[in-house]
Amino acid sequence: MIIFLATMLATNLGIRLPSVEQKLSVDWRNPNGAEFWVKRDDLIHPIISGNKWRKLHGALSRAEQVGITKFVSFGGGYSNHLHALGYVCFQAGWHLNVIIRGDYRANPTPMLQDLHRWGAQIHYVTKATYQRRNDADYVQHLRQQYPEAMIIPEGGSSPDALAGVAEIVYELTQFYDMLLLPVASGGTLAGLASNPKCPALRAIAVLKGENYLESLVSQSAPTSATDWQILHDFHHGGYAKTSAELMDFVTDPQISPSIPLESVYSGKLFFAARQLCEAGYFPLNSRILLLHTGGLQGQRK
Ligand SMILES: *Cc1c(COP(=O)(O)O)cnc(C)c1O
Repeated sequence: MIIFLATMLATNLGIRLPSVEQKLSVDWRNPNGAEFWVKRDDLIHPIISGNKWRKLHGALSRAEQVGITKFVSFGGGYSNHLHALGYVCFQAGWHLNVIIRGDYRANPTPMLQDLHRWGAQIHYVTKATYQRRNDADYVQHLRQQYPEAMIIPEGGSSPDALAGVAEIVYELTQFYDMLLLPVASGGTLAGLASNPKCPALRAIAVLKGENYLESLVSQSAPTSATDWQILHDFHHGGYAKTSAELMDFVTDPQISPSIPLESVYSGKLFFAARQLCEAGYFPLNSRILLLHTGGLQGQRK
């Protein structure tokens, strides 16, 4: 039996883990009789989004232990990562500087308004500057500017993130033939792939990243023994792009119980699951788990 030890930070924030697995009944054509479940990481916390907590908690707990109270991180104007981190810092009384891709001063998004309300210092940079976020000289410059701060990469994909994500596998309460998840930066996929006990992984690319995404994941999880593969036919034109079909699907995915979906991550995941199901992609009578990674705040206008 595995006992989950919640860190002080998780307890104080009200993080609810392990997340539940729910059986889904789907109204899809299902020639192979696949069965579906969903792991509700979207329910871990009302504000701190599923996989972003998984990715952040290792780095943040370590920061807490050594007394770091200042953080710097990066993201776009709708970033689920910055929203989660911003809320944690607000609750913990930590100081956060965020570097935002593009200038939203005239029209801040709901996410940026929340960050502002939570006391984060917001810095808008050009797309060209943002491109340099991982360059050694740029990061060095930030270290000089914020000498006491922990610098957390975009999406929370720090070296600690893999182990945090890999914990999902230990929470599973039953056998699955396959686990489906959305993939953007590859951190969540790499974390799962690094756990040898993980079921076969099929990741739905939510952006155009053929070859590039595969190489990122191979670099982060070089010794992975898990059968993992990225499917590239379900991005609907690119990151945050949608199609009429996808928008219809998100409002009525023909599943019960009803589960909130948005069009950037979970909508594309469930849409792909339906297409694959109807095409007979899943093996006969297989047990398929969909990982709901959260992210509903990003849909706000
Ligand atoms: C960030 C995010 C992802 C993508 O995770 P990666 O580790 O970057 O691949 C998926 N779903 C949601 C809701 C996210 O916020």
